[in-house]
Amino acid sequence: MKTVTVVGASLAGLYTARELRAQGFDGRLVIVGEEPHRPYDRPPLSKEFLTGDRADEGRLALTDAEEETGLAAQWLLGTRARGLDPRGRTLLLDGGRIVSTDGVVIATGASARPLPGGTGPAGVHTLRTLDDARALRADLTGGPRRVVVIGGGFIGAETASSCAALGHDVTVVEAAPLPLVPHLGPEMAGVCAALHTRGGTRLITGASVAALRGEGHVRAVELSDGRVLPADVVVVGIGAVPNTAWLAGSTLALGDGVLCDDGCVTALPQVVAVGDVARVGGVRAEHWTSATEQPAVAVRNLLAGRTVTTARSLPYFWSDQYGSRIQFAGRRRDGDTVRIAEGTIDGGGFLARYERDGATTAVLAVDRPRPFLKARRELARAARPTPAL
Ligand SMILES: Cc1cc2nc3c(=O)[nH]c(=O)nc-3n(C[C@H](O)[C@H](O)[C@H](O)COP(=O)(O)OP(=O)(O)OC[C@H]3O[C@@H](n4cnc5c(N)ncnc54)[C@H](O)[C@@H]3O)c2cc1C
Repeated sequence: MKTVTVVGASLAGLYTARELRAQGFDGRLVIVGEEPHRPYDRPPLSKEFLTGDRADEGRLALTDAEEETGLAAQWLLGTRARGLDPRGRTLLLDGGRIVSTDGVVIATGASARPLPGGTGPAGVHTLRTLDDARALRADLTGGPRRVVVIGGGFIGAETASSCAALGHDVTVVEAAPLPLVPHLGPEMAGVCAALHTRGGTRLITGASVAALRGEGHVRAVELSDGRVLPADVVVVGIGAVPNTAWLAGSTLALGDGVLCDDGCVTALPQVVAVGDVARVGGVRAEHWTSATEQPAVAVRNLLAGRTVTTARSLPYFWSDQYGSRIQFAGRRRDGDTVRIAEGTIDGGGFLARYERDGATTAVLAVDRPRPFLKARRELARAARPTPAL
């Protein structure tokens, strides 16, 4: 391969560029990114960046000048890829520019899902990018605000927690009877939902949004049951949509992400996908750790021209809310039993094990980092396939 083009200049794209060089690719490396920024870290955007504890944008950077020199890449930032030809050899960029390439890495991530009906009046935010976080932070300055967060998932919960820490009056509206059930199961979702109440945030569940009220600037959120929640700032945290629209004219299989085999390889052997946009072996993870672990596998397969290795890492994510660190690893399924293995759910932290047929399928910890690390390692070891004799 003489040229490899990475589309998406964020976490997964950067880690893939690093892997390409680490695994010996010494050809032309092009990195195309829609955002004008160099790669930066998103998790702090809903946490320390919003609260001001890590307000310095420089501390979000994922690269430095020395690394960028070492990568010897051609960065095309502020440039959107618009299409990939059916053979996967030509990329069409903004402004009609064409890049001919031998290999393609799709790392275009996901975008915040907007409310049906569009972006809404001023004061209504989503939180995915640095620019989103800057705009939200600006709206949260100058005294206490009434903040309504729509969606009680991880981004919604973290944003609510940060707004509460800043002294704002915060309400979370969640459509399901309980937030986070798909991730944690009902018992543990209930435990995590209680963090809101403990942190001084109102949680309204089983309620959907009928309309956003306000001329020019948002003034209230109207719920379908007729309740009206006064609001100066609204944050919409209702999930993310994988960025695949630009691939519509390609021959790749799309469906809630770019469909790949277990080795991040798409329908075309010289095109791989990594991170939030990739549906790897039937699963699309929106976790920092997946975006950093998949690139090693994807690059190996890309350079080999076929799938020679697979990405079988254990899913892992963390979340920081109301001064507590939540960590989860594994693959839980509905019907798993949950056992508190250490601590208590009433405060002070705990470690919970999800079990099926006597075996642990997943572990969850709140403020128990050490036991969690041990349990996660055990789980990873048990999940590793036995090498063929
Ligand atoms: C606020 C926030 C908090 C988070 N907190 C946590 C956490 O606590 N724990 C955790 O595990 N995970 C967390 N995550 C998730 C984690 O950040 C993501 O899993 C990770 O960013 C995925 O990286 P990615 O490179 O695949 O995608 P992204 O980070 O989404 O990057 C994709 C990049 O591709 C660009 N792009 C899109 N389309 C095009 C195109 N057509 N042409 C060129 N460029 C394009 C985008 O502009 C973007 O820069 C959080 C995410 C957010 C937004």
